[in-house]
Amino acid sequence: MSEQQNKNQNNNNNFFNQNPLITFAIFSVAMIVIFKLLVGEGGGSSSVLGNSSQVQQVSYSEFKSLVEAKDVSKVEIGQSYIRAQSADGSKLYTTRIVQGDNKLVELLDKNHIEYSGFSESNWFTEMFGWLFPFLLILGIWMLFASRMQKSMGGGILGMGGSKKLVNSEKPDTKFDDVAGVEEAKEEVQEIVDFLKYPGRYVEIGAKIPKGVLLVGSPGTGKTLLAKAVAGEAEVPFFSVSGSSFIEMFVGVGAARVRDLFEQAKKDAPSIIFIDEIDAIGKSRAAGNMMGGNDEREQTLNQLLAEMDGFGTDTPVIILAATNRPEILDQALLRPGRFDRQVLVDKPDFEGRVKILKVHVKNVKIDDDVDIKEVARLTAGLAGADLANVVNEAALLAGRKNQKTVKQQDLFESVERALAGLAKKSRRINPKEKKIVAYHESGHALLAETTVGAKKVSKVSIVPRGLAALGYTLNKPEEDKFMMQRHELWAEVDVLLGGRAAEEVFIGEISTGAGNDLERATDIIKSMVQTYGMSDIAGLMVLEKSRQSFLGPTGGAPREYSDKMAEDMDNFIKQSLQEHYEAVVARLEEYRDAIEDMVALLYKKENITGEEVREIIKDFEERNGMESKVVQEVETIEDELKQDATMNKKEDEDARE
Ligand code: ADP
Ligand code: ZN
Repeated sequence: MSEQQNKNQNNNNNFFNQNPLITFAIFSVAMIVIFKLLVGEGGGSSSVLGNSSQVQQVSYSEFKSLVEAKDVSKVEIGQSYIRAQSADGSKLYTTRIVQGDNKLVELLDKNHIEYSGFSESNWFTEMFGWLFPFLLILGIWMLFASRMQKSMGGGILGMGGSKKLVNSEKPDTKFDDVAGVEEAKEEVQEIVDFLKYPGRYVEIGAKIPKGVLLVGSPGTGKTLLAKAVAGEAEVPFFSVSGSSFIEMFVGVGAARVRDLFEQAKKDAPSIIFIDEIDAIGKSRAAGNMMGGNDEREQTLNQLLAEMDGFGTDTPVIILAATNRPEILDQALLRPGRFDRQVLVDKPDFEGRVKILKVHVKNVKIDDDVDIKEVARLTAGLAGADLANVVNEAALLAGRKNQKTVKQQDLFESVERALAGLAKKSRRINPKEKKIVAYHESGHALLAETTVGAKKVSKVSIVPRGLAALGYTLNKPEEDKFMMQRHELWAEVDVLLGGRAAEEVFIGEISTGAGNDLERATDIIKSMVQTYGMSDIAGLMVLEKSRQSFLGPTGGAPREYSDKMAEDMDNFIKQSLQEHYEAVVARLEEYRDAIEDMVALLYKKENITGEEVREIIKDFEERNGMESKVVQEVETIEDELKQDATMNKKEDEDARE
């Protein structure tokens, strides 16, 4: 078929796919027309009677008198009616048979009129009568099907339809493209090996895992890692999303799973990747208040059946991704199914450096760019966020008509990622601006003058996003996996600094501190409940650390006395009060420093951590105070050196 023809046909297909209603209308009209043509008036069978132009309906008695008058030449007798040609051939009479009259034949014989019988229906009309309603129903069904198909973005018509939702590719992603998740890579390395040389493992009789669950927050590179496994092993990669299985006709999801496995087995060795597996694999026990979801359950059962259905010698590996492994149905996690979990965690400092390096490869980077600095500022961001930071920076550079991406662009992009899009156009009224300036300066002062608090990297009164009117950006020197007690208290002080500044300098408090107070309260509460850092509960843990790395899970009833609860509430309230008073005292001590900060903020809207520290030090010098500004550890290398000397000292101590 020529390309042109091909194109035309595609166009046709598109037209009918896109206009199911019109298609159906045309279809119905055509059916009716055909039906009418074939089963026209006077019956449809071939007739010995000529094509008389005029058809005349007559009564039975009239017909009989016509016969007696020999006004008819040929007669045909059917089951329910009779037709006859007039003697001159100009007319065709038809009449209904009157039941019980069995003398008609006699009458015809007597008048020597030629007669014959005929069957009113033939194979065609009979089949049509049977086929028509069927085709009608089929048409209606197709109409609905195509509508569903459109709304779901995929097909429902068995095999053909399901292929659209299963993406099959042979990715050229390699492990080098996935950075900062070294442990996860090591764990899946074995799978690559198995897919590459299945024979080796099968011969020895080793059981290779069938299913591996990739667990981690969104954007940490689970999909990327799965693709890299396929890319490294050079095998086909079939991917589906768990959520695409639901919201469909019952049975379709299960059919799709069957189809998916069929394709994957046919192309083995291969990889099946199921994103968001929690959408189908949610625990059946867990809250199904609104009645069961049959579709999901059928799909899940089909998935389990398929996984059990092929032996460990079939080199098909199923990788699935979720960020909520705790809600998965236990059946999924049994041996022989997803019995392995690989954690794909948010990257640490080194990891972020590596991920950023992967992504800056794709853009033109200026020589002044310090990736480590960017990595330092982006603690808590996942790989996808970092990829976005680099891309945003490139867009910014492009907008400024630069040839390369500069450090400044990356900084701006990081800020956006961290605090939402800059809304420079949004005007805040002068009163709000004043409140925000003092509030943020309060945070900043406490952050710089409290031992254990995180350093300030930037204070801003430019509103970002919808929630934050201003913000103080803290600069964690490195990722913290652990916090000491004094650091937690320091954080409480910094949080209270905003509210206290409003009270001290404005004389009135606003709603702007709501979130700060909530966080401060939570910190103290977990010190009591979880970390054994108070006299109230001592070492007793009141609240098990249910805060899994993937976020909190449901609430269990509390397991301690009312007295304990009351003591804890009092402790939290009292500590907040005490710390608040201390913070107020500090702010009063540093009054002019705050005023200087506010003045500079008014002028520049954004001030850096260095500027904050300079203002504080100036103030302290002017007043002959001993500096409270906490010296920061300059680099990670310094800290490592410190560690090394400590270790050496410990070794020496041990030898003595
Ligand atoms: P997930 O599946 O965990 O939600 P993805 O794999 O879809 O995350 O990540 C989206 C994009 O973010 C990737 O295509 C890649 O560009 C980037 N990315 C995420 N994690 C990493 C990583 N560890 N290394 C490099 N790039 C990453
Ligand atoms: Zn605040």
